[in-house]
Amino acid sequence: MLKQGIRHFIILLALSLAALPLKAADSDSPAPPASDGTLPGLTAIAGEGMMQSEAYRDLQYLSDYIGPRLTGSPGAKEAIQWSLARMRALGLANVHVEKYQMFRGWTRGFASAELLSPIHRYLKVDSMGWVGSTPENGVTADVTPVNLYQLDQEMKENSSKWAGKVLVMVTRGEAPKDRFQLFVKFGNFLKAAYAAHAAAVIGGQGGSEAAGMDITHTGILGFAAYYPIPVVSMAAEDQEQIERFLDQGKTVSLKINVQNHVTDGPVECANVLGEIRGTQYPEQIVVAGAHLDSWDLAEGSTDNGVGAVAVLDAARAILESGYKPRRTIRFVLYTGEEEGLLGSLAYTKMHQSEMKNHVAALTLDNGQGPVVSLELGGRKDLIPAVEQFTKAVAAFGNLKVSDHAVFDTDTGPFILQGLPGINMGQDSPEYKYTHHSAVDTFDKVKPEILEQDATLMALTAYWIADRPERLAGPWPPQKTAQMLVDQKLDKMLKAIGLWPFGNQDSKQP
Ligand SMILES: [Zn+2]
Repeated sequence: MLKQGIRHFIILLALSLAALPLKAADSDSPAPPASDGTLPGLTAIAGEGMMQSEAYRDLQYLSDYIGPRLTGSPGAKEAIQWSLARMRALGLANVHVEKYQMFRGWTRGFASAELLSPIHRYLKVDSMGWVGSTPENGVTADVTPVNLYQLDQEMKENSSKWAGKVLVMVTRGEAPKDRFQLFVKFGNFLKAAYAAHAAAVIGGQGGSEAAGMDITHTGILGFAAYYPIPVVSMAAEDQEQIERFLDQGKTVSLKINVQNHVTDGPVECANVLGEIRGTQYPEQIVVAGAHLDSWDLAEGSTDNGVGAVAVLDAARAILESGYKPRRTIRFVLYTGEEEGLLGSLAYTKMHQSEMKNHVAALTLDNGQGPVVSLELGGRKDLIPAVEQFTKAVAAFGNLKVSDHAVFDTDTGPFILQGLPGINMGQDSPEYKYTHHSAVDTFDKVKPEILEQDATLMALTAYWIADRPERLAGPWPPQKTAQMLVDQKLDKMLKAIGLWPFGNQDSKQP
């Protein structure tokens, strides 16, 4: 009797436990990994990711033996070949490149600057990307300040005095709140400065002063834009001394020599792709991506070597786990990100007919720090489901889930398609120094953080690809447009030529 009673109790207990997940799935709240069937796979992938990682070794190779990977350069081509070989060696399916055209190719020559008056000394400068050159032997010119925070006024009132001058960007008064608008305005200013025959401009990305000690930061000054005026980033110490002289009413003159090469027409570039095919819905696609290209002052380890090797190691961890997802996971290494999201835009264009089958696109591109958030690209509707996942991976940190739409990396083109372009936000306090600078090197990356980030990418991609219910499909354009208006991104997207929704910018009825 007693024995039978216990058996009966166990059967009842088993039945009631089995019933729990069904109940959860029946109700409105989304199922967590513990009851949606993904947990065994996730557990195995976590083990592969954290205990067998090859990400740090890959990053060293990419950093030290391939090095700078400016889109269109021999370094980028070598990185593409290496990625293809890595994807094939891992055993990914359908490994291939997809070619696209970039508006122009650009190669850095050299840049130098020498202060001639009121004292003589050499200055530290580097050319910004996709800008022009001075005459062959450089120019000698007086320096004129331009207030970055009052560009409209400066262009209107002072451009007649810019001919033959080197313009140095200074900041006076209150900073405009919208960083992207400032970036766009700076591009307009560069056109005005060129039209006014200014000799050169001193100012970094968006006109900003260099962050950090004795370093410069290169970068693009518009989306898919070339500016014929030479623009340099100057070490903050040097730029501030020039400002102090100007503030004291001194005449500042310098010799500046910037030599770059730009192609007359477009150049061929390529993205690299490989897949783990889905077992049940192979036509449905979850993208796990990052950009392979970098700037050229250093090795591009933090921007974005980290992301690129994380994509490769995410693929490895999933393959090695032996678990196969229901949907296809497509691993994509983009190029042309640094010149205006060119590779990911080319991807969404080339795969337009397939967009309806895309579920989500993950991107890791916020430097060397640990992932602290999943930003769902406007898809507020997905927060409850994704929070079930982040709770299950709480051992990787307390990940914040938001609907923030991120456009300064390859999430952007997917968001425009109405998809969750998911930015894996990282806490990278040193990124402001390594970003696009000569100190973006392998030594800045900690292996344990890289391995954790790569594992989280694997887990997130696998969970989305394997959960029984499809996480998302693309929103209709009108809904996406409204979300972008609500997030106050429409003006910026129009200004950089990335608004595909026509005049759809007013509130819906
Ligand atoms: Zn990047």
